[in-house]
Amino acid sequence: MLDTLIHLAYIAAAALFVLGLHRMNSPATARSGNWLSAVGMAIAVGAAVVDVATPAPGQHVSGLAWPIIALGTVVGGGLGLYTARSVQMTAMPQLVSLFNAVGGGAAALVAIEDYTKLATAGDSIPLETTVSTVLGVVIGCVTFTGSLIASGKLQGLVPGRPIKFAGSQVAIGVLALVVVAGALYLIFGAPSLPILALIIAAALTFGVLMVLPIGGADMPVVISLLNSFTGTAAAMAGFVIGNPVLIIAGALVGAAGGILTKLMADAMNRSIVNILVGGFGTGDTGAGAAAGAATGSVREVGVDDAAIMLAYAQNVIVVPGYGLAVAQAQHNVRELADLLESRGVNVSYAIHPVAGRMPGHMNVLLAEANVPYPQLKEMDEINPEFSRTDVALVVGANDVTNPAARSNPSSPIYGMPILNVDQAQNVIVIKRSMRPGYAGIDNELYTQPNTGMLFADAKDGLSQLATAVKAL
Ligand code: NDP
Repeated sequence: MLDTLIHLAYIAAAALFVLGLHRMNSPATARSGNWLSAVGMAIAVGAAVVDVATPAPGQHVSGLAWPIIALGTVVGGGLGLYTARSVQMTAMPQLVSLFNAVGGGAAALVAIEDYTKLATAGDSIPLETTVSTVLGVVIGCVTFTGSLIASGKLQGLVPGRPIKFAGSQVAIGVLALVVVAGALYLIFGAPSLPILALIIAAALTFGVLMVLPIGGADMPVVISLLNSFTGTAAAMAGFVIGNPVLIIAGALVGAAGGILTKLMADAMNRSIVNILVGGFGTGDTGAGAAAGAATGSVREVGVDDAAIMLAYAQNVIVVPGYGLAVAQAQHNVRELADLLESRGVNVSYAIHPVAGRMPGHMNVLLAEANVPYPQLKEMDEINPEFSRTDVALVVGANDVTNPAARSNPSSPIYGMPILNVDQAQNVIVIKRSMRPGYAGIDNELYTQPNTGMLFADAKDGLSQLATAVKAL
């Protein structure tokens, strides 16, 4: 009876995960989706605890199990709550990466513990258990160290530039061979703890060497890929210990992370392999950015002229980018939009899928400033609108507005879908200088005759514009 109830709880938890994930489809429902998933997780943890507390006849459960579970829940839950509440929005990618490391490491530990128990008992280990264990250990260990390096790069603890050394490719190849040979030995040979230890060491080193050569600015894609690995490792751990909810949750994370990685790579018009091999962009926005200042005739626009253009427009599209996040100017852009709307201007926001440095970066920022969701328009929806728009106001966005992606086959971003900002009647660009963005290339938009550059920090520029609009 209790067993049935536990399984029903697992099914309810799995259903809540699926529903929660579905509601993440739109910013309007994402919060409730998060809540549903959290309730699902609480049910799953509760059911697992009852499962441990009521061992089957003949099954021995250590007296230490309860204190360890209680301690883990308090310490893990407390740390999770604290970090999630205190993290800055701009530091979210590295926090997600740390959580991935923890998830991957936990999945690997579950598999290692189960295998060690079976191997030391001297029993023969069923083939399916060995396969799941080996996969869980390998994927979990690669995810653990890979995610720590990714997080370190974003936090500035590890240099963001691609780090390569002589022979690193050979080392990666040798480590991969050790992992595969060791895995085949465990699967087809006898149980062996030294071989398992060798696989663990090789997989941990592989994770470090895999992520070091990738530039810091590519980390969000890598993090999404490692997130997918975490899910897969957790699903494997679920197979090892026979826990259905772990299998389902792991598979969901694995699939969702994989799809997100593919979507991000597509939105940058790059393959996942190209990202993993690295060397794109500078990795940091500072150093390489100075390398290529745009040439051609640039027209500057003053705050007062820009304010007049905006205030007397019928339609304005705001195009936010990474610079908006750096300047934390989301509240200022909302304030300016409110002022314009009070004057009868239609304002909408064009959201490019890879604007910023993490998936959904712009949605999250603008949601923080309570920008109404219906004003946020996805790229495919807003692109036909630009040619009917009086003013496109670009705030700290660069690559995602570069017309070279459409017209210049020799451009590194050729083929990347962009926002058709250049088709607006007038374009105002707020940025601090002529320095390029993440891709490190000049932007043809800035030398178009209908573009006016307003050189300023996004926060200052927007608040000066708001003051000027108020004065009209
Ligand atoms: P970009 O990196 O192309 O450009 C950002 C611009 O913001 C810079 O040119 C910079 O110019 C300006 N800027 C920086 N700080 C400020 C500030 N304080 N005030 C005003 N402007 C500022 O950003 P986009 O959002 O247009 O494009 C994102 C890029 O990141 C794409 O190339 C994408 O492929 C890549 N990427 C995105 C990921 C994601 O998940 N979203 C993941 C990995 C990569 P200046 O210094 O002159 O001020």
